Amino acid sequence: MSSMRSRAVAPAPPRSTRPTAVAATPTQLRVATELFARRTRRPRFHRGTGPALRDLLEDGLGPLVTDRRADDPLVLAKRTLAHVETCEGLVVAERAVGFAWSTAAGRGAVAHKAVELSMTLRVCPAPLDLVDLAIERLIDGDRGIRGWLLDLPPAERAELRGAAADWVVKFQDTFPVLQPAWRPRLESLLTVDLCGGRVLLRGKVDLALGRPEGTQARVLIVDFKSGRPQAVHAADLGFYALLETIRVGVPPYRLATFSLDSGAWAAEDVDPGVLGAAARRTVEAAARIVAVDRGGAPKLRPGPACRWCPAAAHCPAAPAASAPRGCADARVALAMPSASRALSMSG
Ligand code: SF4
Repeated sequence: MSSMRSRAVAPAPPRSTRPTAVAATPTQLRVATELFARRTRRPRFHRGTGPALRDLLEDGLGPLVTDRRADDPLVLAKRTLAHVETCEGLVVAERAVGFAWSTAAGRGAVAHKAVELSMTLRVCPAPLDLVDLAIERLIDGDRGIRGWLLDLPPAERAELRGAAADWVVKFQDTFPVLQPAWRPRLESLLTVDLCGGRVLLRGKVDLALGRPEGTQARVLIVDFKSGRPQAVHAADLGFYALLETIRVGVPPYRLATFSLDSGAWAAEDVDPGVLGAAARRTVEAAARIVAVDRGGAPKLRPGPACRWCPAAAHCPAAPAASAPRGCADARVALAMPSASRALSMSG
């Protein structure tokens, strides 16, 4: 990797503009009618909903973090919860490797930035130009992605541009044009401190629309996926509902996973049952993580995740054909609590 970093992409002047009023596609109309459900009466929630959820979480999490300090909190994210349910060994392995930008993560960040820019630019460039502009803005910004973008080899940069432009095109074809009045929030960070700061819940919402009115829920949260929307994704989104409810005091009215590949979605309306289930799921996941942190053997569940799990090379449960990205990463073997011991003892 070169130590000489150069600009990844020269600023791209807009080459073409989107007509100011483009007729909506049938899918866009269907999303506006069915997913947004504008004509549906929005639910009201008791004003004690947020504090009650906080109490529920703190009652469950407090005993798990008595040995933690506020400057070293137990951090729980949607991804962590999903990984615990997939395979506890995967959580250990991912934590050992740490976060690293990948083409998939970079594509999401660039595409979301491009859509964000498209809302505010007077002249909306063609998707590829929009993507180049987004990359420029991210490089000029102060985010962790900056160095990764600057160091991308030309071929990978070209692939990233193509993948992000594909995302933008599909978004523009299937999702209604975002109106500023809807208060769209893209890649919106939500955090909640619990137990005196010894637990940190954090999530990044792909898209949130709307605003609550008093105790009436009027926010829609959308997570974009490639591939088909699955019911399990809706459970993941309950975590966002939890964070939003504690933050604002009012839940979102609906959670949706939207597939840009198919223009299909899976949605769930939020009610006290959804929120309670999300809180219990969070506590259960935390308990399993803490048990492993305290020396317990992670329960291994071999499955599709083994294909990209950083521990596959050391894991006795991984199918022989697994050839993960981190198979040669010594950090996994060193940082997993005696990887072979922990992994081989579980079942
Ligand atoms: S290789 Fe598979 S079974 Fe082993 S820790 Fe990773 S996900 Fe779990």
